[in-house]
Amino acid sequence: MSSFSGKIKEFPQISVDRFDGRNLASTAYFLSHAHSDHMIGLSSPQFLDHLESNSGVYLYCSAITARFLQASIRHRPLDPFVRPLPPEEPVKITVPNVAEEASHQLCVTLIPAGHCPGSVMFLFEGRGGTVLYTGDFRTSVGDVERIRALHNSDGTVKAVDSLHIDTTFCHRDILHFPSREDSSSAICDLVEDWLARGNNHLIHLVCPAKYGYEYVYRSLHERFGMRVHVSRWKYRMYDTVPEIQDALTPDATETWIHACDWRMREIEEGEDQSDRQLPCRCVPFGVDTAPSIRVIRPSAMFYTVYQSAK
Ligand SMILES: [Zn+2]
Ligand SMILES: [Zn+2]
Repeated sequence: MSSFSGKIKEFPQISVDRFDGRNLASTAYFLSHAHSDHMIGLSSPQFLDHLESNSGVYLYCSAITARFLQASIRHRPLDPFVRPLPPEEPVKITVPNVAEEASHQLCVTLIPAGHCPGSVMFLFEGRGGTVLYTGDFRTSVGDVERIRALHNSDGTVKAVDSLHIDTTFCHRDILHFPSREDSSSAICDLVEDWLARGNNHLIHLVCPAKYGYEYVYRSLHERFGMRVHVSRWKYRMYDTVPEIQDALTPDATETWIHACDWRMREIEEGEDQSDRQLPCRCVPFGVDTAPSIRVIRPSAMFYTVYQSAK
């Protein structure tokens, strides 16, 4: 859960991932990804009013994050002020003046963060120095060597004056963290094993967060050629991201794999799995015996708590 104030002392005129309080005096805004703990104040009337009444004040983010904002009724009014930037390309932007501070140029590079679709880190370079803001990120061994923006032209590592790092799992109990590929393949194996047991064996994926399960959906779709059932509102969220929407379906009766709306209390109370229904209370077309459901809860937090408790 991000607790960042939004302000970077080297660049006092900008705000990152926070859009309320004293951030309303900034003149350039950056959103690393579309998770709600990084969007505080973004849909407030005060923030919209600030953008509308000050020329040249924009919100910068990746193209996919911009598409998510556009697909959300709460954030759509920001559309005229959203400026999607390309990945891994240094871009010069103008930060308009505020009070006695003059307007100035700032070079920003978006670095893919591997956390959820559209998530990026920001590398800021300007008169305040070189600052890396990671936001939520996932890097595997060897990834950093491949990030051009963090290296000089001769291949040496670029000096960063200030690093703002978001970490949930930087803890000595969590020295091993499974890769996204390993986690998805473990989930696919659990699904395969269960579906092979009979036509009435169904999967319930518990996916309470708004975004972040897309890699799992796509892996399941690829492996089983079956789309994942999600609620209609979640399906519509990906209207502008067809590469993810293709792995999903709003039709509960076409699939054995469901990530539709969830009922956490029943799962936590350990209700007898054999007679539980799916949240959508549907079964695939052609299944005429009582469903038997395997519940899978993809959760990095759950994994790490489990590891620490061992
Ligand atoms: Zn996040
Ligand atoms: Zn369902």
